[in-house]
Amino acid sequence: MGMDANTPSFSDAVHYLSRDHHTFSFSASHEPALRVCPGELIHVQTWDCYKGAITNDENALSVIPESEVNPATGPIYVHGAEPGDTLSVTIHEIKPGVRGVARTYPGNGQLQHLAISPYAQFFDVVDGLITMNENVSFPASPMLGVIGVAPEFGEIATMPAGKHGGNLDNNLNGIGATIHLPVKHSGALLGIGDMHASMGDGEICGTGIEIEGDVLISIDIIKGNGSQYPVTENATSWITHGVAVEDLPSALRIACEEAANLLVTQWGFTIEDAFIFLSVQGNLGIAQAVYPSTGTVIGKMVVPKISACPAPFKNPFRI
Ligand code: CA
Ligand code: ZN
Repeated sequence: MGMDANTPSFSDAVHYLSRDHHTFSFSASHEPALRVCPGELIHVQTWDCYKGAITNDENALSVIPESEVNPATGPIYVHGAEPGDTLSVTIHEIKPGVRGVARTYPGNGQLQHLAISPYAQFFDVVDGLITMNENVSFPASPMLGVIGVAPEFGEIATMPAGKHGGNLDNNLNGIGATIHLPVKHSGALLGIGDMHASMGDGEICGTGIEIEGDVLISIDIIKGNGSQYPVTENATSWITHGVAVEDLPSALRIACEEAANLLVTQWGFTIEDAFIFLSVQGNLGIAQAVYPSTGTVIGKMVVPKISACPAPFKNPFRI
């Protein structure tokens, strides 16, 4: 990214929002930190999920209260976004910092019975290459764990996911992706954070490579909305989400229902055709399943863009 003349770069941004402006929850009662118009390029600085508290071997195992995890930079008020609309957030670029961390916690994650000690692993991130140790390195694949808007009712911490987005932990929410979020309040009140330099499907130990960084986004508004939960779109696919509390089968089912609903309502599939098509061409997967979760688990259905369903929404009226 950045070499193509058509690809925006950070120097093109017309707004800058520092990580000093952050919240640990999504709520319509939060004061906007920034007001933007659709289409404007916005440079957003994000904290890592520990707000910079885990930096070296001395503090590597520090216990961070859950109320101080996942700061989301924002809220960003988007002029013209009204309840019933869709906020379409395009991630043009993600520039992670130079050092990230992953941690294990007792009683947490799919391998907790095998690895019972708390442990922290730092990673160097240089020129798109992540180094874990002298033997293990791999390409960076930066993404945002947290992206959300003010929920319909009340206040929701940045730790769980939900219909408002939040801690979706979908590793497809990376460079080039557009995340469509259902708007419930004027201005939408977007927040983003919890950058990962890399995170696998499931995030099985409970963290990705948690890292600070810079994000270049722009925001469009689609009038009207066709989904209950956020929908991600990239060059080849659109991806629905399903969220449930400690209930992976329900999370997977909701992701399927969301995809089927879009195929039926937007693209004219019968429910039977949608069912079959998703079975033979859709890829059902796990965004996040940190067993045993005390919060939400997230399923995703990846739908290929073919001429019969080239986008999540048909003929969206954008402003
Ligand atoms: Ca996360
Ligand atoms: Zn994270």
